Amino acid sequence: MSLLQIKDLGKSYNSDAKVLQGLNFEVESGEFLTIIGPSGAGKSTLLRCINRMVEIDEGKIIFDGQDVGELNKKKLRKLRTNIGMIFQHYNLVPRLSVIENVLHGRFGYKTTIQGILGRFTEEEKEHAFYLLKKLGIEEHAYKRCDQLSGGQQQRVGIARSLIQEPKIVLCDEPIASLDPNASKVIMDHLKSITQELGITCIVNLHQVEIAKSYSDRIIGLNKGGIVFDGPSYRLHRSH
Ligand code: ADP
Ligand code: ADP
Repeated sequence: MSLLQIKDLGKSYNSDAKVLQGLNFEVESGEFLTIIGPSGAGKSTLLRCINRMVEIDEGKIIFDGQDVGELNKKKLRKLRTNIGMIFQHYNLVPRLSVIENVLHGRFGYKTTIQGILGRFTEEEKEHAFYLLKKLGIEEHAYKRCDQLSGGQQQRVGIARSLIQEPKIVLCDEPIASLDPNASKVIMDHLKSITQELGITCIVNLHQVEIAKSYSDRIIGLNKGGIVFDGPSYRLHRSH
């Protein structure tokens, strides 16, 4: 069975017009998929439906064999540890160090009270350092996040999402605040580290050319509907 199945998904906010309508697609384990579309197309909303940050109105989302809409609180928490999130504005805690931000990803914000590092086992810290090293920012581990460049902060965001060992990572416009060089570094890292760890990845982007050069499959979203779903080479400028 596919890791993720989206069936006849429909979503509106405050009973306004549908933001997503009649969406159907599946994502296989290990895929690196990009979703492209103009601002307002519904890309962020779609990702938020998958980890149930917002409730859907119609259809079903099946993740790893479970109907996301049916989960009780406890199972929803478990679901969210299996779904890593990466955001446009990194969503780090600026006054904390890089390593503290990464370790947060493991136990959430309850652990923010002083002495956070002392609460983690050597093995957990080693795991965090392993990810920082892979992402080329190990040397910044004890710096405050707000001393890092945007591209470095997003690498912290990647490490934080991976430390919980998710099955899928959902990335909402991860490079929209970065210059072209930093964007390339982030896309390279995102692809290589998720592929190496066997983690499925969905990346919202608005740059078609970047989507084409990194992903084998692209979904095009416009006005809440799928206008393209196929291999990158079949996507032409008309979309
Ligand atoms: P994209 O990520 O493609 O830019 P979004 O999912 O952010 O698209 O937005 C799709 C539409 O839903 C937009 O018209 C946006 O204004 C609306 N929208 C997004 N979030 C909310 C919200 N929390 N409440 C009401 N409308 C929203
Ligand atoms: P981004 O594209 O970076 O997600 P947005 O401006 O679309 O930024 O959304 C920022 C926040 O505002 C999001 O949390 C979204 O849910 C909310 N939002 C977006 N559009 C609307 C809307 N029309 N009404 C209410 N909230 C909205």
